[in-house]
Amino acid sequence: LDPVTFSNESKAVIDFIADYYENLEKYPVQSTVEPGYLSVMLPESAPYCPEPLQDILEDVSNCIIPGVTHWQSPNFFAYFHANASTAGFLGEMLCSGFNVVGFNWISSPAATELESIVLDWMGKMLKLPSSFLFSGTGGGVLHGSTCEAAVCVLAAARDKALKELGGETRRHSPSNFRLIETSFSTGFSLSPENLRFAIEDDIKSGLVPLFLCATIGTTPSGAVDPIAELGKVAMEFKLWLHIDAAYAGSGRICPELRHYLDGVELANSISMNPHKWFLTNMDCCCLWIKEPKLLVDSLSTDPEILRNNASKSKAVADYKDWQIALSRRFRALKLWVVIRRHGLANLMYHIRSDIAMAKRFEALVGEDERFEIVVPRKFALVCFRLKPKVEEEDLNRKLVEAINSSGRAFMSHAVLSGIYVIRCAIGTTLTQQHHVDALWKLIQDKAQSLLM
Ligand code: PLP
Repeated sequence: LDPVTFSNESKAVIDFIADYYENLEKYPVQSTVEPGYLSVMLPESAPYCPEPLQDILEDVSNCIIPGVTHWQSPNFFAYFHANASTAGFLGEMLCSGFNVVGFNWISSPAATELESIVLDWMGKMLKLPSSFLFSGTGGGVLHGSTCEAAVCVLAAARDKALKELGGETRRHSPSNFRLIETSFSTGFSLSPENLRFAIEDDIKSGLVPLFLCATIGTTPSGAVDPIAELGKVAMEFKLWLHIDAAYAGSGRICPELRHYLDGVELANSISMNPHKWFLTNMDCCCLWIKEPKLLVDSLSTDPEILRNNASKSKAVADYKDWQIALSRRFRALKLWVVIRRHGLANLMYHIRSDIAMAKRFEALVGEDERFEIVVPRKFALVCFRLKPKVEEEDLNRKLVEAINSSGRAFMSHAVLSGIYVIRCAIGTTLTQQHHVDALWKLIQDKAQSLLM
């Protein structure tokens, strides 16, 4: 790694990326390639000799970009966005530049200490109770994804329950994962009555319910589970309550969105993804836990090769014991740069402007009598559909296909209680009002053609 080459080649790649952003709107948002397209474009085996960067970048342009769906396009309205920013990119570069492996404190003290500080900063911005913060009685950690975080707290909850039940004897009990039905009547949020029913049913069958995952901003519809009420049921039956706020958690930096997480003090753990709606490039998931010791009890390893005085002193966090893998990236640098470069003021502005655009889109849908809003909007996700006239089951699916195949926008769908709905998730960093207006015009035009 020669610093001069590093500097020159990095600049070339940055210029390449800047050019990509400059031309982003020229590409079809959803890639149109067929499966296997790349293997016919690239050699069958790896090169023996080094190749010039210029050749590689040419291949990125000619072979890779056609197979990229442009998540950073302002016309990307599918799934939940992965909003990036210059600050997120710079933080990612610093993380990659140092390339440390901060599995324990001694392996790179700054990595651990910055992570703890940034998790407390984030927790304070989200107004989490101090029981989740290092400055209180809990603590936080960065994972790569919400699913990873959920698996870790699930392991902690299981081991806690096993301990309370008397240990190993129960280890071979049948596993007991339940999806609890939601419906239109509750706006697709989890009903405390249904939860209670499911718990009592399991107990009657000799099972031990031990973990409840509630969601703030569900993926299909942005529904919000009633945390305060669910928390009471969870406490009554000694369930570990985890809150998945992957998408909507970022919204809690805005006072007007805070009420959605009322009751958070009843949870044992909570996670959210800054890589969704907090201008932080992939990947970054914050997990806070009230009793980090339970996570460590469940996940820690203590091989001789990693033993050191700092760990022995118990005065430091060894983050390898808060996650599945041993190795870990210096993700905190990225989140730290994002928070510092934007400041709370601009981060709130970002969330609010997405919500304002979603509100306007929702109003436009409401004004067109051919369409209907299917679920009331809470954040920047609008779920809507063309009202089916006769039994035209495929109408909305065809509409999504027509929009996506135009290349001018990309949307996705969900099925709620058997009903196909179109999701319009507003929130890429570059989306502005005129993109949303153009999307609505496109939807109307395609609907017109389909209805003719
Ligand atoms: N939970 C919710 C509510 C989500 O919306 C998503 C993804 O969109 C996930 C979890 C999965 O997150 P991850 O990919 O970080 O595991």
